[in-house]
Amino acid sequence: NAPLAELDPEIAAVLEAELGRQRETLEMIASENFVPRAVLQAQGSVLTNKYAEGYPGRRYYGGCEHVDVAENLARDRAKALFGAGYANVQPHSGATANAAVLHALATPGDAILGLSLAHGGHLTHGMKLNFSGKLYDVHAYGVDEQTHRIDYDALRKQALEVRPKVIIAGWSAYPRHLDFEAFRSIADESGALLWTDMAHFAGLVAAGVHPSPVPYSDVVSSTVHKTLGGPRSGLILAKDFEPWGKKLNSAVFPGQQGGPLMHVIAAKAVAFKVAASEDFKARAERTLEGARIIAERLSAADVAGAGVSVLTGGTDVHLTLVDLRNSPLDGQQAEDLLHSAGITVNRNAVPFDPRPPMVTSGLRIGTPALASRGFGAAEFTEVADIIARALIDGTGADVEALHARVDALTAQFPLYPGLSQ
Ligand code: PLP
Repeated sequence: NAPLAELDPEIAAVLEAELGRQRETLEMIASENFVPRAVLQAQGSVLTNKYAEGYPGRRYYGGCEHVDVAENLARDRAKALFGAGYANVQPHSGATANAAVLHALATPGDAILGLSLAHGGHLTHGMKLNFSGKLYDVHAYGVDEQTHRIDYDALRKQALEVRPKVIIAGWSAYPRHLDFEAFRSIADESGALLWTDMAHFAGLVAAGVHPSPVPYSDVVSSTVHKTLGGPRSGLILAKDFEPWGKKLNSAVFPGQQGGPLMHVIAAKAVAFKVAASEDFKARAERTLEGARIIAERLSAADVAGAGVSVLTGGTDVHLTLVDLRNSPLDGQQAEDLLHSAGITVNRNAVPFDPRPPMVTSGLRIGTPALASRGFGAAEFTEVADIIARALIDGTGADVEALHARVDALTAQFPLYPGLSQ
């Protein structure tokens, strides 16, 4: 029972170094967040020792009386948070949640219709190397070439032609609200089921600062670790238990998974409790305000002069998509430049991107992690200006000066004070 530093100093060093990296840089990957200490504690607990195949009250193992309490709390809190009549908190990740949803709603060979990966969709919505692309007859919709928004008339027309079994609403890179009412009516008209994957914006929905897909969708899936700010994992919801609850449960276990990760489920319960608080709502509001400030700064005349623009001209959510098609910098160069100044973002293909996916002509910049760190309008204004300066000056940027501004911000908002790994 030696402590980690003694038993495995190499891994202890990785943990310490990663904590240092998170503390000393500005984390702006839109799919990341900082979990509360209580979530770290639940996830790093003895619950990892327990096997609990099955569901609360109906397990295939003895000794589940305590983990049952945790799973029931997680399930009840998820239902209350999202106004859902059904929740399954067992998916290990967003991808396994999505595999279970398709397993429950469709049969291999059925047609599915989701947002193209190249226009902001997710791998599990039909990418050809993913299970979804291999098992189903994939059709993809895209965004309009001028507006970069989903064109619902075009989507309706496509759905009526394809007649898919499932229409997928949801994205990994799209800066605007989806029109769930339109998705519902298109699904109804074309005889499809509607599955919404709210992995990215679930925390905003929980906080009441984004429309909820739950009333409109047959099934909703999510991750718990993005805007929702919980442990790395997945979640499935529906308005009511009927008609899909039984099939979804069976698709998760035994369809996709064996034993649930009870330490992660306990950590989800904690995250859902936090997400129901007033503090969380205020954090979600700062997340949105930060993204708007960044979008506005990166649309201003001086950055436009450097060939930089913002897709759709702004944002409704926690991220901004930067279009570098007219900039001398490509996505890879811009990502590296910001990294050298202490800001972590990811390059991201823009729709109709002329560059290959490993290079791209865009950046995805998100605010959830910094909002969790405590950043508000003043700090996001400073961050936006640092990014703008870097993108305007490009390879000639004064990286040291920019890094000093980043250092001032990280020092002002210590991350996990007192924690050592
Ligand atoms: N769905 C969407 C829309 C996502 O953006 C992601 C993650 O990037 C996932 C699902 C998959 O989640 P995970 O990485 O937990 O498998």
